[in-house]
This record gives sequence, C-alpha cells and structure tokens, in this order.
Amino acid sequence: MAAGAAYCGHCGGDSPTSDAHHSCRQQLAMEPPRYCALCRRRMKVQVTPLGWTAECSRHPLTSFCTDNAPKSAP
Ligand SMILES: [Zn+2]
Ligand SMILES: [Zn+2]
Repeated sequence: MAAGAAYCGHCGGDSPTSDAHHSCRQQLAMEPPRYCALCRRRMKVQVTPLGWTAECSRHPLTSFCTDNAPKSAP
C-alpha cells in the first residue's frame, strides 16, 4: 500500500486502508487500479502480456505489475 494514498484505487472511495476496502485490496492484487490514489482521476491503464501499467494524467504516478517480478514497495 502506497503511503499517503487518499483514495481507493479500485472503487475510488476514501479511506483505502479501512476494512470497507478489504475486497478492493484483494482485487488490486490481481488487476490494475482504476483510480489515482492521489486525485481520484481515472487512470490510463494498459495491459501487457507481462502485467499492466496504470498512469494518472496529472501525477507522475505509474503503477506496474508483472506476474514474475517481486512486489517490493519502498
Ligand atoms: Zn475500494
Ligand atoms: Zn492523480
């Protein structure tokens, strides 16, 4: 979970760390986020054979996921 995230990347709701978004977090582990966690804009999602990228038009925030790469959030 990215520090400072204000919105749920799956449904766009606030308090993304609350229990209300438990199922959202499970979805986000398997599919790209739809909304920017910082501004709630819809993100441009591109699915690739290796995974996906999700990019916000207003933030240099790009999420990237592959099946093989280990998830190592700083
Ligand atoms: Zn949610
Ligand atoms: Zn944004």
